[in-house]
Formats: sequence, C-alpha cells, structure tokens
Amino acid sequence: MAHPQRIQSLDIWALARSGTVLNGEHPVADLARLQSACSGPAISPVRWQLQGLLKPGPEGRDQPWMVLQVEAELPLSCVRCLQTVNHVFRLEREFRFVADEATAMAEDEDSEEDLLPLTPPLDGLNLIEDELLMDMPILPKHENCQSEYLPTREGDAADAKPNPFAALAQLRKSPPKDR
Ligand SMILES: [Zn+2]
Repeated sequence: MAHPQRIQSLDIWALARSGTVLNGEHPVADLARLQSACSGPAISPVRWQLQGLLKPGPEGRDQPWMVLQVEAELPLSCVRCLQTVNHVFRLEREFRFVADEATAMAEDEDSEEDLLPLTPPLDGLNLIEDELLMDMPILPKHENCQSEYLPTREGDAADAKPNPFAALAQLRKSPPKDR
C-alpha cells in the first residue's frame, strides 16, 4: 500500500507512477514569505492541486512530470491609492524532473518547461510559495482605481520624513540611553 504523500516532502517518482492527484489549502499566514508580500491578512487560503504523471523522454524512457495548479487571493497595496487591492492568482505550471540540481541547471537553458531536481524530496509548499511570489504584479493597482496620483502629496510626505543620514548623525551625537 502506498503511504500518503506529504506536501512538504514529495516522493515524485511515486507520485508520477501512480498519477496521484493531491490537493489542499493553506492559510497565507503560515507561508511567511508570501504573508510578508501582502498588505494585511488574507481572507482566503491558498488552494492547490498537483498531479504526478509520466511522459516518455527523448530516449523513450518515462520521465516524471508534475502539474501544479494554485489559486489564491492576496491583499496587496494599490500603487495609486495605497489602499488594499485583492489580487487573484490562478497559476498552472508543469515541471519535468531530472536527477539532481546540477542536471537541472545544465538542461535548463535548452528546456521550455521548468525543471526541478528529484532529490532532495520536493517541498511542494515552498514551490507553491515561490510560484506565487514570482507571479506578483510589480505595480499592483485597482482595475479602475478612482484615486488620482498626487505627486504633490508624495512630495510632502518625502519632505516630512527626516533625512536618514541627518537622523543618524543626530543619533551619534546624543549620549547612549539608559537601559
Ligand atoms: Zn487604488
């Protein structure tokens, strides 16, 4: 009997041979890197599904592949109005697995698909987080943001901030604080 797969330590060969479909969801708060890219707490968890499969390789031998689908809605900060904009992510990625990291690096340039090493066991959760982070919009923005971008206000804000170097100089001058 096949032992159940854990998302954080996937046996890719077993997954591919059996064609197993795994799915689950994870609170964004548990994914530290993703959470830190958000402007606040996310309303819904990250939902994922992955499936292992075998495809014939160039020498006719089966190679392990994996299809990953991820859905998430993350609160980001709109670059125009600075309010929260909920960005919906729907990703589908296919990965081909090769023996190790060195092979993945060597073959990567000639491959259209993404390559991942078979060893060490794949941390699927880490991969999901990576893919979402790579798919982050550079300038998140409401589709029909009503706010006008006001450079004068930005300018005021900049003026209000103390020059960090001046602040540092001030800090050096002042005596050490009592603990
Ligand atoms: Zn906006």
